[in-house]
Amino acid sequence: MATVRLDQARAALDRAAVGEQMHALIAELFPICRSITGDGVRATLARLGRHLPLRVHEVPSGTRVLDWTVPPEWNLRDAWVKDARGERVIDVRASSLHVVSYSVPVRARMSLAALRPHLHTLPGQPDLIPYRTSYYKPAWGFCLPHRRLLELPDGEYEVCIDASLAPGSLTYGEVVLPGETEDEVLLSTHVCHPSLANDNLSGVAVATYAAMTLARAARRHSYRILFVPGTIGAITWLARNEPRAARIAHGLVLAGLGDGGRLTYKQSRRGNARVDRAAAVALRGREHEVVDFAPWGYDERQYCSPGFDLPVGCLMRTPQGGYPEYHTSADDLALVRPAALADSLDACLAILAALEVDRTYVNLAPKGEPQLGRRGLYGDVGGAGQTAVDELALLWMLNLSDGRHALLDVADRSGLEPARLHDAASALARHGLLRESPGATRPARRRPRRPGERWMSS
Ligand code: ZN
Repeated sequence: MATVRLDQARAALDRAAVGEQMHALIAELFPICRSITGDGVRATLARLGRHLPLRVHEVPSGTRVLDWTVPPEWNLRDAWVKDARGERVIDVRASSLHVVSYSVPVRARMSLAALRPHLHTLPGQPDLIPYRTSYYKPAWGFCLPHRRLLELPDGEYEVCIDASLAPGSLTYGEVVLPGETEDEVLLSTHVCHPSLANDNLSGVAVATYAAMTLARAARRHSYRILFVPGTIGAITWLARNEPRAARIAHGLVLAGLGDGGRLTYKQSRRGNARVDRAAAVALRGREHEVVDFAPWGYDERQYCSPGFDLPVGCLMRTPQGGYPEYHTSADDLALVRPAALADSLDACLAILAALEVDRTYVNLAPKGEPQLGRRGLYGDVGGAGQTAVDELALLWMLNLSDGRHALLDVADRSGLEPARLHDAASALARHGLLRESPGATRPARRRPRRPGERWMSS
């Protein structure tokens, strides 16, 4: 395995370049007509597979997954509305948002009055195309700017949605990066939205580049990165991996990471999970907001459902619904900014790097301060000019290493960087002053393997 530490891999990233690369990836994926199933998801995953050792799973329609059923597969070939002269007045080739996702096929002639209930607009944002879906109720429809609707003359229209809604499968992608331990960190992002840049593709891009960075770093944890259709994809993964889910020690849902707003960390349902502490430490000094868990939002709703209660938070910028471009054609390539994508990636990696060094230690000479100078410890870590800080790191680690505080608790209380404390702890351990102990960093819920149960990573 690579020897570069994750915090070093993160520090080495050329943020300007990687921001542009993520934006270019988003631009490539933007035109694809994705939905919760179908070839759009497959094409998206195939593109990501150029960067990642991505395993693609296909789960047949009709499969029971927890309280849900995998729906028929939807594929769209063409969709349009033509006026009396045969001109396409609505054309899905111009934007994949023009058709209601999961529309049943239709081919008909009708008056504007008959067509009108199938046309969706945003009167308050008359220049934008709304994003609409009808996954679980058979329906068809088109979405268009309200201003365009007002221009349509009365008369006869020809309508075509050339789509198939038939038994097939639900597709999701999974990347597994093994580490020194079987404790897993889950990263999950949704891949079911069509031509929307921030909601969907920013998370896809940040998850992809986070995985690429993790792949070349030394890893204490194993990492599982999921690219799943929203809700039904996360539910499908949980249904198929219930025993494995118990290995998830920390997790982050990644979504909405490219807009110009500040970072938002939404805590896990537990609120006091290690990932919540890691986020608090990693986001210090950045403009950000921490919000409590609520059963509303992205796929943390599934991972944090009470039957799983996984320690999974959500990293985003402006929360869903909190910006006017949300779920409209204005969530486009101009809304997502390379600098915001790079900042989000950096924050994500900072949280993961913090978790990598979060160990609990016990001070083996806890009565009074041990004499550090006699052991040569003052010169042991850091470089010239950093002695005072390093001494502080040594003293904080010694003082709080009582078995009840893990490294990130020390980082939180001292204000010192986790990597700095990790260096200090390593030096103290080498000199026999600290011993690693199971303690505060152990995942709260562990269970033994059942006989015959397999723990293979896929
Ligand atoms: Zn959405």
